Amino acid sequence: MAEQRRPSKLTVIGRGMLGRCPHCGGRGIFASVNELRDACPTCGFSFVREEGYWVGAMTVIMAVILLVFGAWFVGGMLLTWPDVPWTLLMIGGLVLNGLVPFTLYGWAKAIWVGLDLAFTPARAEEFGAGPPSA
Ligand SMILES: [Zn+2]
Repeated sequence: MAEQRRPSKLTVIGRGMLGRCPHCGGRGIFASVNELRDACPTCGFSFVREEGYWVGAMTVIMAVILLVFGAWFVGGMLLTWPDVPWTLLMIGGLVLNGLVPFTLYGWAKAIWVGLDLAFTPARAEEFGAGPPSA
């Protein structure tokens, strides 16, 4: 079974952060910029583990939005102090807050699958066709 040689939690999370299958590390898990395939093309692991599964990915993307906005806003303040261009920072922040969910949601899903898989190991029935290869 796959449970006998499970990678570490950090490895599984890191694979998700690198946009690879958290279970096997395989590539090609994205169907588009902001969408994962239903299952890993390498090992067959189904990325949707239960109904409502992507609520966790929404939490991840909200954290990413917060980090990007914080880096933009605080970084802009620090770099331009004391003549901070407040209007530019606010408008740029709004634009970033609008763009990040559309461009990084698939990546947030991969991170979420990695986080979930780190703490809830894959079960045999979560593999579509054939046995797990990793
Ligand atoms: Zn895989």
